[in-house]
Amino acid sequence: MKLPLLLAAVALPASAVAHESTTPTMKTYGLVIHGGAGVIQRDQMSAELEAQYRATLAEALQAGYAVLESGGAALDAVLAAVRVMEDSPLFNAGKGAVFNADGICELDASIMNGATLQAGAIAGVRRIRNPLQLAREVMEHSPHVMMIGEGAERFAASRGYEFVENEYFHTDFRRAQLERAKKRETRADQGTSSVPLDLSSPGISDDALHFIREEKYGTVGCVALDQAGNLAAGTSTGGMTNKKFGRVGDVPVIGAGTYANNATCAVSATGWGEYFIRANVAHDISAQMEYAAKDINTAAAYTLAKVAKLGGDGGVIALDHDGNVAMDFNSAGMYRGYMFAGRPVVVAIYGDEPRR
Ligand code: ASP
Repeated sequence: MKLPLLLAAVALPASAVAHESTTPTMKTYGLVIHGGAGVIQRDQMSAELEAQYRATLAEALQAGYAVLESGGAALDAVLAAVRVMEDSPLFNAGKGAVFNADGICELDASIMNGATLQAGAIAGVRRIRNPLQLAREVMEHSPHVMMIGEGAERFAASRGYEFVENEYFHTDFRRAQLERAKKRETRADQGTSSVPLDLSSPGISDDALHFIREEKYGTVGCVALDQAGNLAAGTSTGGMTNKKFGRVGDVPVIGAGTYANNATCAVSATGWGEYFIRANVAHDISAQMEYAAKDINTAAAYTLAKVAKLGGDGGVIALDHDGNVAMDFNSAGMYRGYMFAGRPVVVAIYGDEPRR
């Protein structure tokens, strides 16, 4: 399928596809992507920026779909789609990742193969251009599942990786975001914040809470189903702005930010990572399908309700072995989309656009 056709398809009004059944009638293959959840609203988005987001999401879908269409593996499709978003400054992954409190980008990623239940993850790396690729390297070329920081980079060097300077990831937009976060932190310390306290999140200042929700999360992820019926999932992120002390979120935690199992589904999450770890989001969705025979949309909604009850927000993309899709979130919006053989292509951003 050529890109112009795809863009024409995504230009359909949301209502034209919103209630389309996602139950495929024949053996299908395809992928679902997200580019982060958060406070993403029409009135805060310029037409130009929105067009850039939609075009990059479409490009990522196209890259992953091309792999699947030619008979390639779900894992390769996940890598291809995520790479487009890691290389784009629009998303909080790879180039354009958020800054930690020291003004450095530290990247996390994980990948899982639904056919074998093999998984790989890296956390806190600073010089790897495409972190999801390194997570795959951990999965396929080491006896381990997760590697962190300097050790992960030494492993990368042993596998012949070329490094980029941390500056490669830096953008003015994220720098300004860090400065806003630091200002809010100072105001919160001085007790001058006017944002109401959310009691469901004890220990977090009201200003910090407001900031976290206000600034979209922006992690990227992909779940794919290939022609052989194999599922895979991958997620990549810079984490959360102003993170401190080697903080690691849900993204590299298998079962929290990423999970894939051919028997059930593939899941990639985005949102306030601490809550997603505590609710074990990605595996929780799979477990409901395995133990309670729930369908993917019911399972995803149930797990996100658990996250909300804890006080967290964000979203997931999930795909089952029959090609049924969930793109659910309890934040205002989530960059998302899917592309399947024989089905309309969907690229969506706002809360009133398709979620399945
Ligand atoms: N879940 C990520 C984290 O907590 C953030 C995001 O989704 O953008 O690190």
